[in-house]
Amino acid sequence: MISARQFNQPVLTWFDKHGRKQLPWQQNKTPYRVWVSEIMLQQTQVATVIPYFERFMKRFPTVKKLAKADIDEVLHLWTGLGYYARARNLHKAAKRVVEEYNGQFPETVEALAELPGIGRSTAGAILSIAINKRAAILDGNVKRVLARFHRVVGWTGQAKTQQVLWEIAEHYTPKQRFGDYTQAMMDLGATVCTRSKPACSLCPVAKKCESHLHGEAHLYPEPKPKKQLPVKQTSLVMIVNQHGEVLLNKRPAVGIWGGLWSFPEADTEQAKWVQSLESTLQLKLTKPEIWNPLRHTFSHYHLDITPVKLFLRQSTQQLLEPEQWLWYNLNQPATVGLAAPVKKLIHKLAASL
Ligand code: SF4
Repeated sequence: MISARQFNQPVLTWFDKHGRKQLPWQQNKTPYRVWVSEIMLQQTQVATVIPYFERFMKRFPTVKKLAKADIDEVLHLWTGLGYYARARNLHKAAKRVVEEYNGQFPETVEALAELPGIGRSTAGAILSIAINKRAAILDGNVKRVLARFHRVVGWTGQAKTQQVLWEIAEHYTPKQRFGDYTQAMMDLGATVCTRSKPACSLCPVAKKCESHLHGEAHLYPEPKPKKQLPVKQTSLVMIVNQHGEVLLNKRPAVGIWGGLWSFPEADTEQAKWVQSLESTLQLKLTKPEIWNPLRHTFSHYHLDITPVKLFLRQSTQQLLEPEQWLWYNLNQPATVGLAAPVKKLIHKLAASL
């Protein structure tokens, strides 16, 4: 990590020129006003929040007024902002501030974070912005800036990644101008280091930003990992006749690739399915040639497919159930619906003959 000053000084200089200073909650700053704004800003854009914040403050100008209010009225003023648990927690926390702290917000991160709906980052924002106390924040915007600046690996929702980011956030918090720095980091994330297409040419820390220097800003922060899907196995049997045609089978209407044409599928031991195919289809087959598996992913599992190529040892017999079986001409393909991996394999098979 670079020294704290090397990071926070350019950020503060940038804030002096470009930071937002006219937002309603930046006027007449109190812990109450900063707190309400921070809760409203979770999951909601600044422009949407402004009129809600102003109406809220007009009706509940102090934490005591909010604590006394009927929850229905609080929810009514929240209508349209969504995530109503935020409003309910706001009301509960206001009551506790009045009952336990005589209407004065506590002035430590730990005590604030004990209140409903206030996490470590919101507590840090209240303390730094409202009373200029040294406290780090790590909201979504700041996570993005820091994850990119240091190419922090891992999804930012993971405890391990958050711990790394908190260490970085604490390290870069300056020794003075805490409120300005907090606001600067929020503004930097919201207006320059944006989710898509960050404006690195306008960024005050671009010269030291690891992901920018490596042209990898788009790779950070890492997205939430997809759920691990189970893996199933199957074999698709590509039987080629003396005319260079391959045998396809129409799949049942229900299930994967329902109603599409595919190679016969085999999921038991090789010797058994060769025998079974020979007797069901009355064909004599050569020794199988096993290809490298390919993976096809469905929404709920991965299917690892082992393609197996074999040839007919004698001329084509009359096929059973012709509506279910088809000799597919690799050079003049028939127009039938093919499952995606089957289509891929047909190309590969044609090239191999
Ligand atoms: Fe974000 Fe680009 Fe600045 Fe790095 S240089 S912090 S990626 S805006």
